[in-house]
Amino acid sequence: MLPPDTLDGKGFVKVSPLGLFVSSSHSNDSVFAVGDVASSAGGIKLASTAIRGGRGIAFNIASLILCRENGLSSEEASKTLMNIAMPNDALKLVIGGTAAAYTQGRSTWGVDVKQKVFGEDMALSHGLRALGVTS
Ligand SMILES: Cc1cc2nc3c(=O)[nH]c(=O)nc-3n(C[C@H](O)[C@H](O)[C@H](O)COP(=O)(O)OP(=O)(O)OC[C@H]3O[C@@H](n4cnc5c(N)ncnc54)[C@H](O)[C@@H]3O)c2cc1C
Repeated sequence: MLPPDTLDGKGFVKVSPLGLFVSSSHSNDSVFAVGDVASSAGGIKLASTAIRGGRGIAFNIASLILCRENGLSSEEASKTLMNIAMPNDALKLVIGGTAAAYTQGRSTWGVDVKQKVFGEDMALSHGLRALGVTS
């Protein structure tokens, strides 16, 4: 159970922009929050943000382990971390048999968009590929 002061007013975990460490008086560099559970500056919660954040957190955890093994200070280690607090700049929605996508200022929609973005499995295989996991 997280201490109450690690949560924002809506109950989401407060995180720092760099590395998404829990930020509070209990802050340390071994606790991470990412995805829907993490407090964000605004916008809606999206799978793409969770996936991107998950990759960044994995990179940062590996980097911190290597830095500690090599005797780097916390300050030196923090310079190696990936900043994963990027704003949501894309939205992909399934609407019945079709889909709409907004990315980089451009909107597209249609059955072909659903097939391209979500495939046959609601983008599960796309997500696994993004995480480097093969089934
Ligand atoms: C109806 C709906 C439609 C959506 N449509 C889209 C869309 O079109 N595009 C898009 O990008 N995003 C969409 N989203 C948002 C997207 O699903 C979420 O942003 C994304 O799933 C967040 O991933 P996550 O891993 O942070 O959390 P989740 O996917 O919620 O995963 C959290 C996991 O933790 C488990 N869990 C919870 N408590 C515990 C516990 N105590 N111990 C162990 N496990 C626990 C849960 O069972 C769950 O499996 C939609 C969400 C909803 C609800």
